[in-house]
Amino acid sequence: MSAFVSSAKFLARYCSGSQAFLLRKKTISGILNLVKNNSRFLSGFISIIGRPNVGKSTLLNALLGEKIAIISDKPQTTRNRILGIVNRPGAQLVFMDTPGIHKPMHKMNEFMVKTALATYNEVDVILMLVEATEQPGGGDRFIIETLTPVKTPVFLLVNKIDLIKKEALLPLLQEYGKLYAFAEIIPISALKNDLGGLLDAIVKRLPEGPHYFPDDQLTDQPERFVVSELIREKIFELTKEEIPYSTAVVIEEMKEEPEITRITAIIYVERDSQKGILIGKSGVMLKKIGTLARLDAEKLLGVKVFLQLWVKVKKGWREDERMLKNLGLVSEE
Ligand code: GDP
Ligand code: MG
Repeated sequence: MSAFVSSAKFLARYCSGSQAFLLRKKTISGILNLVKNNSRFLSGFISIIGRPNVGKSTLLNALLGEKIAIISDKPQTTRNRILGIVNRPGAQLVFMDTPGIHKPMHKMNEFMVKTALATYNEVDVILMLVEATEQPGGGDRFIIETLTPVKTPVFLLVNKIDLIKKEALLPLLQEYGKLYAFAEIIPISALKNDLGGLLDAIVKRLPEGPHYFPDDQLTDQPERFVVSELIREKIFELTKEEIPYSTAVVIEEMKEEPEITRITAIIYVERDSQKGILIGKSGVMLKKIGTLARLDAEKLLGVKVFLQLWVKVKKGWREDERMLKNLGLVSEE
């Protein structure tokens, strides 16, 4: 099976309903363009995997030059699969930020791990991120084990090299080299935008393919979703312990007016006590979350934003299949 066919299959599998139709239409027009121009256009899908907190979302944002993925120093922040699209002359790279791979606890986490593993053989390149600040640990080895049967080329990206001495790098690269036949090993600092020759190395591995997305499109995620993620990011930044993990953010309304975009969002929590903490003394915490999220949303959308936040208690939402479906956290099958 050609890589193109498998990529198209991949699209069909991962995008449901009207979105899938849209993508298939684009795929077909891509094929037509290919025939028409008779030029070699390269395109493909790249999956970003790794333990929680190694910097996958930071890398995706660095690749795109925009903030679309949520970043936090707490693990397991990213819940959904996020696409990021990078266009280069003669090539289109579609990156997927997957939730970190870890032991499933809740139903939600189970789904997150499954999403990450299911993509391995359907993409053209896998980027496995690890941290330069640590020796290969149990979590990294677990992921490397899951890669054993995988035929897709795997690049090892040793991230956060800004935090270590140069001398420490080579022994670490050698250590990882012993664990798996990585197609490439590239030291990077996603935070400092120091990505080595990563993009060129990826392009070399891409098959001929269509423009999967229009050139000006950054992500497949609707603005609503990205805004809800920005809010979630601030909750992760400002609250502690179980609070951020117990919240879900739903955008109730997003109204574009000539001068301003009005956004109303609901933050769901599991318990009254969590609601109290999120709102804070005389509403101080919620105000902080709202202000920071609004500033980011204004940057992202390029307009003035009025952001209204509500906190609601919904007991046990993390085990509630319907709620998870609404949030796009379990598959429709
Ligand atoms: P993810 O869970 O793998 O998506 O990790 P995130 O992208 O959310 O990043 C986790 C933490 O690592 C955040 O605090 C980032 O700022 C930090 N981080 C990511 N990349 C780098 C890097 O290259 N250098 C440094 N010093 N920190 C980084
Ligand atoms: Mg992440």
